[in-house]
Amino acid sequence: MTNNPKNCPFCSFTDRVIKDNASAYTILSNPRKVPGHFLVIPKRHTEKPWELTAKEIQDVFKLIFFIEKSIIGKLGSGCDIRQNYRPFIEQDDVKMNHVHFHVIPRNKNDYIYSVSEKFEVDLFAELDDLEHQEVAKLLDTKEASKE
Ligand SMILES: [Zn+2]
Repeated sequence: MTNNPKNCPFCSFTDRVIKDNASAYTILSNPRKVPGHFLVIPKRHTEKPWELTAKEIQDVFKLIFFIEKSIIGKLGSGCDIRQNYRPFIEQDDVKMNHVHFHVIPRNKNDYIYSVSEKFEVDLFAELDDLEHQEVAKLLDTKEASKE
């Protein structure tokens, strides 16, 4: 792993690697939300997910799907895949700037549901036409290419 910042734990987690391929590796998340909470991490230090190369994305998702196939029916009947881009939060013990994907086994009414998601029903609101138009405009090809 080269050209990586010295203060990035994900650039130097080689002793915890469970499986890897050419451009990505996986470790168990510590701390973790539930048993079998994996992190899939590109080997190259990248902080913006859209800066991953096509090869890195392919290698990341090869590992994600391998993990899913390995844990479904053992640690969960379902699985969440999650990537958080939150530059507004400083890096600390639970927030890493280095892009990574969470793979989290899920079950009906599991621990994550009981302590968190069951309280999130109020988050959902009807999408109205104005909001649809305004947000869809952001994906206009001319606007999107400005970045
Ligand atoms: Zn890094």
